[in-house]
Amino acid sequence: MSRFIRLENPPRFDDHKEYLPFLRRDFRYRCAYCERTEAFLGWEEFFEIDHFRPVWRFGEQAAHYPNLYYSCGKFNRHKGKTWPSDALVASGFCFADPCQEDMYVEYLQEAPDGKLQPLTNCGCYTSDHIRLNRRALLDWRQDRQQAAQDLESLARAASRFEGLLPANLGPVEQRRIREAIKTLKARIVRDGQRFAL
Ligand SMILES: [Zn+2]
Repeated sequence: MSRFIRLENPPRFDDHKEYLPFLRRDFRYRCAYCERTEAFLGWEEFFEIDHFRPVWRFGEQAAHYPNLYYSCGKFNRHKGKTWPSDALVASGFCFADPCQEDMYVEYLQEAPDGKLQPLTNCGCYTSDHIRLNRRALLDWRQDRQQAAQDLESLARAASRFEGLLPANLGPVEQRRIREAIKTLKARIVRDGQRFAL
């Protein structure tokens, strides 16, 4: 749910894999396309480097940092070597570029059931070719919607607990409430990272 802005300034490498640590930071530890996080998928072993413009067509960009995107392995396999023809691009059928725009705002709209409705030809092409409406991603979006609601309630509960700390409360009670608040806040941070909220 955001556009990715590169802040890293890596040196030049011949092997594109050397850019991995820079990409992880620039893509904020999540897949550039489905936006699932390392914390959700099981850390970096589920992630790969995608060549946004595929090497078979744009060989000169094989180790060009701006052409490298951090993505989950599933996405990379679905995208594979797909690239639209010039005629398709001219009609607007092309991959949305998450470094240029927030595709979840510009090209796609998320429904309460997690399904994405394409708003443009670009959204249609992107959604179809990387299968953004497959079951696992619908579940992820529904879980994220639920987590957003839950985290809001938890944040409200945490601040209510803090307001319930009268000075005349015994030290044991005070400690118990403080522990409960700490646990709630830790949960808010953990789930926030997991769902990139
Ligand atoms: Zn992905």
